[in-house]
Amino acid sequence: MGKASRDKRDIYYRKAKEEGWRARSAFKLLQIDEEFNIFEGVKRVVDLCAAPGSWSQVLSRKLFLPAKLSPASRDGDLPLIVAIDLQPMAPIEGVIQVQGDITNARTAELVIRHFDGCKADLVVCDGAPDVTGLHDMDEFVQSQLILAGLTIVTHVLKKGGKFIAKIFRGKDTSLLYCQLKLFFPIVTFAKPKSSRNSSIEAFAVCENYSPPEGFNEKDLHRLLEKVGSPSGADDLDCRSGWLEGPNKVYIPFLACGDLSGYDSDQSYPLPKVAEGTYQSLDPVQPPIAPPYKRALELKKASSHGIRELERLSLDS
Ligand code: SAM
Repeated sequence: MGKASRDKRDIYYRKAKEEGWRARSAFKLLQIDEEFNIFEGVKRVVDLCAAPGSWSQVLSRKLFLPAKLSPASRDGDLPLIVAIDLQPMAPIEGVIQVQGDITNARTAELVIRHFDGCKADLVVCDGAPDVTGLHDMDEFVQSQLILAGLTIVTHVLKKGGKFIAKIFRGKDTSLLYCQLKLFFPIVTFAKPKSSRNSSIEAFAVCENYSPPEGFNEKDLHRLLEKVGSPSGADDLDCRSGWLEGPNKVYIPFLACGDLSGYDSDQSYPLPKVAEGTYQSLDPVQPPIAPPYKRALELKKASSHGIRELERLSLDS
């Protein structure tokens, strides 16, 4: 799909470029905030799986820049935003970047070091593995990434804090919901308007972090495995069959974003401009070292090689 054609078919792709966001995902976080007011009182944030950085841009524009421009602000008072990704990211004002793997235990230590031992008010995670198209498999890998995010949360989030995580809806959604409920009394699954209906993506909005009494971070996986398991976990009130039959869990699911706003599944004509035709904009900040970079280089080299061979055979 060419840039102009995508501009027509994907309104959020076009708007992201017009408003200076690195990715259309920025609107998802903004729409979640419209519904849940997630930035209220937030001074320390962790952005997990942050590249190319549109969520970090939202955090910078919503939290860091207003504080920096406020006449009352002092250096030590400015919000702290730490962004982590496997991939490097171009700089964003007010965002500390860490290149790392969120499944690695050391990553939580690095974050805490940046917060001078203090804890975060909010952790967001838009992490996604490379999808295969096999829904069960994608959902499983995605849930592993969320659990890695939750591990970091148990180390860095303050009591009462919030956790927002991308999920893939599928057959184990109830299980994931129950696992998150162990730590957060309020868990809502939200679908921002900028996320396509055809996509299985949604976001878990988890509020008021309250780990179980006497919780030890080392026991996280043992605890999670017990949820929904046949033996259940007596200490957690997770009885056998808790997730099924008459005890089926009903997950609060909420559409968010202005309902009269743009629909991500609809095509919109390009806007009329005084000078004639609408000029499609370039992406704001292409990824600086995407995993597909080598593949592109090889493709370019091979098409160049093919053209050379064609030229030689025409010359001879
Ligand atoms: N929120 C980002 C934004 O607004 O620009 C987009 C995130 S993108 C959908 C998913 C990211 O997850 C990718 O940049 C990928 O590198 C990252 N990711 C996947 N697995 C990861 C892991 N184990 N540790 C850190 N980052 C990971």
